[in-house]
Amino acid sequence: MSAIIEVSHVSKSFGGVKANEDISLTVEKGSITGLIGPNGSGKTTLFNSIVGYHPIDSGSIRFEGREISKLLVPEIARLGLLRTFQQTRIYGKMNCVENMLISIPHRKMTLLEAFRRNTPEERERAEHLLHFVGLYEKRWLQAGSLSFGQQKLLEFAMALMNEPTVLLLDEPTAGINPTLINGLIDRLKHANREFGITLFIIEHNMRVIMNMADRIYCLAHGRLLAEGTPEEIQNDQRVIDAYLGA
Ligand code: ADP
Repeated sequence: MSAIIEVSHVSKSFGGVKANEDISLTVEKGSITGLIGPNGSGKTTLFNSIVGYHPIDSGSIRFEGREISKLLVPEIARLGLLRTFQQTRIYGKMNCVENMLISIPHRKMTLLEAFRRNTPEERERAEHLLHFVGLYEKRWLQAGSLSFGQQKLLEFAMALMNEPTVLLLDEPTAGINPTLINGLIDRLKHANREFGITLFIIEHNMRVIMNMADRIYCLAHGRLLAEGTPEEIQNDQRVIDAYLGA
């Protein structure tokens, strides 16, 4: 395996707060990689830096060998590096199919144009992916009428519409009931294995991340505290003290 994302000595401060300090890590191509750590340890800041949401203070971020730390969100998205958010970003008054069709945001056109100009292939793909996440029967319902867990599945399908190479997922299982969580885990694994999408996942649910990840990084106080396989991380005394034992 080779690194698809290489974060080297990245630091990012907000005023006096050092949200990320000298972080270096890699995400292997084709892997499921976990990012854990206590609240405020800098996980979301790192994701935001990787996808170009804000400039970093120092260090470098490479995607497929190319420096991306000076690029903007749409430029990075066009390269195939996308993220989802802790809170879903769907249009509640549109139905699921419509949400899917306007989710290809990087074509330099307005939402209305994106909605009108979709191709038969895109409509077919939208329905296929809604089927994949188990929402096919609900495809004509307003997205706002779905449960929170179903909205997260919709958001996952919307991200897949963009055919990402790497998907960064910010707490995909937060707020989802346990039965839907298992379905989501299966689909994430399927997207990884069958569609070949590399997944980098922030997750607080230890059962979920230990079950899925090939490799896990743990942050604390803005720094990289530990890295290893799920087994190594679970048994790492520093991780237990800073996070698991809390
Ligand atoms: P985590 O995702 O691990 O909970 P964050 O990356 O959200 O951690 O936050 C790390 C630190 O950076 C926190 O102290 C947080 O308050 C601060 N921080 C994050 N984003 C901002 C921002 N936009 N402005 C000011 N401070 C921020």
